[in-house]
Amino acid sequence: MIDKDCIFCLIAGGDIPSDTVYEDDEFRVILDLNPATRGHALILPKQHYADLFEIDEEVLAKLAVLAKKIAGAMKESLACDGINIIQNNGAAAGQSVRHFHLHIIPRYENDGQKMLWIPRESDPEVQKTLVEAIRAAL
Ligand code: AMP
Ligand code: ZN
Repeated sequence: MIDKDCIFCLIAGGDIPSDTVYEDDEFRVILDLNPATRGHALILPKQHYADLFEIDEEVLAKLAVLAKKIAGAMKESLACDGINIIQNNGAAAGQSVRHFHLHIIPRYENDGQKMLWIPRESDPEVQKTLVEAIRAAL
C-alpha cells in the first residue's frame, strides 16, 4: 500500500526528489535532510508501513541485509569510526515520520553527537518481573 499523504511514500516512490544512494524494487536509501552526521542515511521501504509493528517480516528481513550492505559501503567510503543503527517507533521514542525507516548514522571520533541513553541502576526483582511479562507475551 502507498499512502499519497505520506512524505516518505512519495520520496520512496520517486515522486519527491531525494539524495538517493541506493534503489531497488522494494527500497530506497536516501540521505537524511537534517543529518546527525556526515552521511546519515535512511532506508525506506517503498510500501507504507507505519512502524515496526506493521512492517511485513519478509520485507524487514531484506531490509536488515540491505542495512549491512549500506553500512559496509559507508565504512569503506566515508572513513567513519563507527555506525549507529536506529529505528524509532512512536512519538515517545522520537518517531516523527510515520512511515517505517531505519537510520544508518556514521559516527566519527568527536563528532559532537550524543545518541546513547543514561544508564540507570537495575532492581533484580523488577528485572525478574519484566522477564516474565515479556516472555509471556512472546
Ligand atoms: P524519525 O524521527 O525517526 O521519524 O526520523 C525522521 C527523519 O526523517 C529525521 O531524521 C528527518 O531529518 C528526516 N526527514 C524528514 N523529512 C525528510 C525529507 N524530506 N528528506 C529526507 N529526510 C527527511
Ligand atoms: Zn508512507
